[in-house]
Amino acid sequence: MKKEAFYISAAIDYPSGQPHIGHALEKIQADVLARHKRTSGARVHFSLGTDEHGLKIQRRAEKERIKPQEFVDRMSRHFRKSWDDLNIQYDDFIRTSEKRHIDVVQEIIQQIYKSGDIYKGHYKGLYCVDCESFYLPRDLIDNKCPIHKKLLEKIEEETYFFKLKKYKDDLLNYFKNNPDFVIPQSRSKEIVNRLKDLEDLSISRKSVGWGVPLPFDTDFTLFVWVDALINYLSTLGYPGNNFKKFWPADIHAIGKDILWHHTVIWGALLLSLELDLPKRIFVHGYITAEGQKMSKSLGNVVNPNKLVKKYGTDPVRYFFLREISPFEDGDFSYERFEERYNDDLAKGLGNLVSRVLKLSECVEPKFENKELEEKIKEVKKEVFKSLDNFKFSEALKAIWELIGFCDKYIEKEKPWEDTKNKLSVISNLLATLLEIADLLKPFLPETSEKIIKQVENRKTEALFPRLN
Ligand code: ZN
Repeated sequence: MKKEAFYISAAIDYPSGQPHIGHALEKIQADVLARHKRTSGARVHFSLGTDEHGLKIQRRAEKERIKPQEFVDRMSRHFRKSWDDLNIQYDDFIRTSEKRHIDVVQEIIQQIYKSGDIYKGHYKGLYCVDCESFYLPRDLIDNKCPIHKKLLEKIEEETYFFKLKKYKDDLLNYFKNNPDFVIPQSRSKEIVNRLKDLEDLSISRKSVGWGVPLPFDTDFTLFVWVDALINYLSTLGYPGNNFKKFWPADIHAIGKDILWHHTVIWGALLLSLELDLPKRIFVHGYITAEGQKMSKSLGNVVNPNKLVKKYGTDPVRYFFLREISPFEDGDFSYERFEERYNDDLAKGLGNLVSRVLKLSECVEPKFENKELEEKIKEVKKEVFKSLDNFKFSEALKAIWELIGFCDKYIEKEKPWEDTKNKLSVISNLLATLLEIADLLKPFLPETSEKIIKQVENRKTEALFPRLN
């Protein structure tokens, strides 16, 4: 039987600053889905990377008096290290300054140009360097960028336009015929409304040197967003075999601020190329820190590497999956983090594992209890269903219900006393620990392995030392 192909991407990050927990959330979520699919037997391509061109990077590098390439080489390493520290098992880390990406971008832009969807014109408008995006006056709040609350730069120059407007009806139809295109569905409303008065898109910059030159007019570089979106094809080595195997993408995981780009701009480019659109765009909210928006000036940016160093990889993964809503904005606080750690990991999971193992010296894991087996089946179903719907927290809640169920079973059966069915109870519990480890695999991969080893060796080691 042919293996199911599953392609999931997390957004490639703009490395003008250090990675923060907002970047991390999406990588952890996507990693769980990728691992889950792999263990279910699918062939998976999971990509992430860094988006390295554009004016903002060019200016940062100028400020440090180094070449943009040198700047992004350094910054890209920080991102990669963060994902490695979080045990993100990606198949490709793509950088948009790599030749393999640039080649695909030029091939695609040439193809769109040849099809007649690109024309030369004159652009007059407003640009936010922080967003690397053009804005129409009606999009502004108090004349400022709605996201960065900064005044915009006026730009007036010759440019090439992409015929975005031409694809309005096709895009509207796609939204209509694919209600699951955007998850959660509620986020697509705003896009559909904005789609109704679409303008053609300026896709070139004359004054920005740090970008991909247009193949048909090298006086211009490509608008950084178009460049970046094409990473979803260049990571597959478009138009080679991996592309044929994995396109269309099953899931693009992104933050809510870039939904427009991923549905409308990306959608129209794909339509122009006569390629299928991605099946689902999974959109997460923002994360605040201690109730406040994270910002450099406030000095409250939470760095994922520091969290991992202090608490370990799996506790960080656990917190973001269990505590932060997959769809709405969420908050990080140290107090809440430590509560979750102590209550769920140290007391809940860690305690159960050590309790069972201490009782278990010469017993083999084996199910002899129908009730437990039924409960596990039920939990497994719930976990799979929740993951299909991006409900990470619900999935974990189900696993922790099983942990609670075991605690009650232990209290009831009292296997530390010399009861008749003591050995059978312990066998059941050991078998259940292995099932719990299996269920935890995509979420807490290291912990899952540790539990399996401990059961195999009948050796107790503290999984999560309590925090004081
Ligand atoms: Zn902005």
